[in-house]
Amino acid sequence: MSAQPKTPQVDNDSMEDRLYTVKYNDPGDSHLDVKVSDICMQCDSYDCVRVCPANVWRESEEGVPHIAYENCLECSSCRYACSHDNVVWTYPETGAGVTFKHG
Ligand code: SF4
Ligand code: SF4
Repeated sequence: MSAQPKTPQVDNDSMEDRLYTVKYNDPGDSHLDVKVSDICMQCDSYDCVRVCPANVWRESEEGVPHIAYENCLECSSCRYACSHDNVVWTYPETGAGVTFKHG
């Protein structure tokens, strides 16, 4: 049985500080999108925005969320939170995206 990774020692409290320590490799193209823009324009829940821990999804005046895909943690929360099943979600191309460090 392989050893479990140790819980990282976190010595800063704010989410912004913690997100600042995450390493990303920008794939250049977004791996996230919405399926149908009109659905977002009629959506009043903005669950994608509310659930994202990395502030990737942001409300916009046009009604279709802005997606700052470069900061995505690949947690999948937005994909399941959207009650309209309107999120296009894929992994970034191999070698791109977020890198997590354990221990
Ligand atoms: S929750 Fe879904 S439908 Fe609503 S704005 Fe977000 S992606 Fe669009
Ligand atoms: S996968 Fe997670 S971090 Fe990435 S956009 Fe969706 S909710 Fe935000």
